[in-house]
Amino acid sequence: MVAAVSCRRRNDRDTLIDTQSTPLPRQAAVLQDDSGRVINNLRISVTDRCNFRCRYCMPEEGMVWMEKSELLSFEEIVRVASLFAQLGISKIRLTGGEPLMRKDLRLLVAKLVHLQGIRDLALTTNGFFLLDQALDLYNAGLRRINVSLDSLDQVKFNHMTRRDYYERVWRGLDAAETLGFGPIKINVVLIRGINEGEIGKFATLARARPFIVRFIEFMPIGADDGWTTEKVVTTREILQTIERETGMRLLEVERHGNQPADRYRFEDGRGEIGFISSVSEPFCESCNRIRITSDGKLRTCLFSLEETDLKRMVRGGARDEEILQTIQQAVWKKEPGHLINRPEFVRPGRTMSQIGG
Ligand code: SAM
Ligand code: SF4
Repeated sequence: MVAAVSCRRRNDRDTLIDTQSTPLPRQAAVLQDDSGRVINNLRISVTDRCNFRCRYCMPEEGMVWMEKSELLSFEEIVRVASLFAQLGISKIRLTGGEPLMRKDLRLLVAKLVHLQGIRDLALTTNGFFLLDQALDLYNAGLRRINVSLDSLDQVKFNHMTRRDYYERVWRGLDAAETLGFGPIKINVVLIRGINEGEIGKFATLARARPFIVRFIEFMPIGADDGWTTEKVVTTREILQTIERETGMRLLEVERHGNQPADRYRFEDGRGEIGFISSVSEPFCESCNRIRITSDGKLRTCLFSLEETDLKRMVRGGARDEEILQTIQQAVWKKEPGHLINRPEFVRPGRTMSQIGG
């Protein structure tokens, strides 16, 4: 049974800066919301397109892609990212859709890696193009990658992704490991009735190879994803299964820290497992993330019902100060928490692949 999400109340508004009449100090290098959360982590989606059709993310047919002219150009992304960096964003993750479908992504990587204030640049990918692009990405300065891999069984992988690319993804992973990428994280979404029988195999993988395996709870955010609470395999269940099947205890390393995953290590120190418990144990109170969609909309929560159109400002000739102020105002109103499992939950109008996962 999935626990109800408790939403935290916003702080009293008497500390709210009236940004309409008082320009925000330019040097305020902290992006903060009115619940006191400091935001330092930005996910940038570079495309909504994808060559996979993962069941929990998008339907087999009928996805309508954005026009290329709608996407932020690399120059626009770099400008916006540098403004976020001025406000204290220090971590950027490139995502999509499938980010490696964006032509010459390495050129964007090379720019972002050197952006003042950015300490950490990472990429989330389905792994298909790693075989071709890993070397270029490495040379551009990228070191951290997350690869989504929901099954260690080729038939099940094909079923989950609706594509016959299992071997190719593995060749990409091997190439990335050989080149020296690290840490390499494997993202796994379990759906009850499909792949929950593979928990033990993934735990073994985390011990056998230098990969951190992270289980992401299935969320109601895909297009036509068939989500129900019953299909969610919870963190507690996964953790118990791992301990039972391996005969080893998992020890907590970090909980509600700087990343969405709660981190555990096996008691003998070999192998790390992460859990992203968005549904059963939401971590909204410590959320430090915001997102920009590939068409330049700022989203302060994955489940936001509102967006702030930065692309319109950028293309409309807005000055840096105006964009900075708009970002600060939007982030100040970041949602206290999502409402999955509550009757009032409303799915956002866009899917994970359109928002940037
Ligand atoms: N295409 C890339 C990939 O799959 O890694 C990046 C984009 S994808 C939207 C980012 C992450 O979101 C992936 O790890 C994917 O498994 C996860 N994801 C997508 N839909 C999800 C859902 N309904 N519930 C949980 N995770 C989901
Ligand atoms: Fe594509 Fe990633 Fe969505 Fe799978 S999860 S369909 S790889 S965007």
